[in-house]
Amino acid sequence: PNDKLLVGLIGAGIQRSLTPAMQEEEARHHGLRMHYQLIDLDVTKSGPELLPTLLAAVRTMSFAGLNITFPCKQAVIPLLDELSDEARAMGAVNTVVHRDGKLIGHNTDGSGWSWNFQRALPDADLSRVLLLGTGGAGSAIAHAALRMGVQELRLYDVDPARAQALAAELNRLYGAGRAVAVAEIAGGIADASGLIHATPMGMDKMPGLPLAEELLRPELWVSEVVYFPIETALLKAARAKGCRTVDGGGMAVGQAVGAFKLFTGREPDAARVDAHFRRL
Ligand code: NAD
Repeated sequence: PNDKLLVGLIGAGIQRSLTPAMQEEEARHHGLRMHYQLIDLDVTKSGPELLPTLLAAVRTMSFAGLNITFPCKQAVIPLLDELSDEARAMGAVNTVVHRDGKLIGHNTDGSGWSWNFQRALPDADLSRVLLLGTGGAGSAIAHAALRMGVQELRLYDVDPARAQALAAELNRLYGAGRAVAVAEIAGGIADASGLIHATPMGMDKMPGLPLAEELLRPELWVSEVVYFPIETALLKAARAKGCRTVDGGGMAVGQAVGAFKLFTGREPDAARVDAHFRRL
């Protein structure tokens, strides 16, 4: 029998992904032989229209599962047999499990973020939180933050329509007044207890800060999603002000740990995955 666990990642521009290394190394510790295949749409020179072909191959080749990333997290949904409650609420799938002939969509991005956040700052004040960026990562985190107990989530995006649409959806799902789109950062941060950063600012290819440094205060906790590099300008500025911070690496580990559990049914050793990730 073929005892090798086949999994993979479908997305565009994923050659630098650290997920294959994290998944294969954790599988090895569990005595499992895993092959994690990168299926890069930039390499195949195609877009999400290739998904039906790829998912048919996943079914016939007995893949155990898949991770899904940009630009396929929404496009994959109509091709699946079932969705978890979380994936359905978010309208986005980052993990697919292939079991008993069915493809089931899950989302471990948001839960990966909250798992790591609670591990890093268990006593954080969740009363009023400003979220910068309401794209893929930001919207997954927004759902997770409200599920975790953030009382009021303020949403800011350079594209105000995006923040407004997400706020409306969050209020419908989690209760009126839980989310509010704000027109400027200064007002949203003034009496906030925490800041979540989910824009691409601070990435190697987009250096800089996503807000004016003067707006940071020592009482504010700061959670970063950018993890190329791990040490962003925002984290440096926040620590210099005395803020407690959470880096973007933990969320990447959190989504991988959640996906590993779904793929294998085994309990991953999160501390071991985290330590390995930080050596990569
Ligand atoms: P995205 O393009 O889907 O969303 C980014 C959003 O930020 C957009 O809505 C955009 O309008 C907004 N934006 C851009 N610049 C802004 C600014 N200066 N101020 C306010 N809003 C701004 O991108 P994404 O997939 O959500 O990724 C965002 C970042 O998160 C990237 O750096 C990505 O690598 C990182 N990320 C990290 C993890 C992790 O596990 N740590 C997971 C996913 C994404």
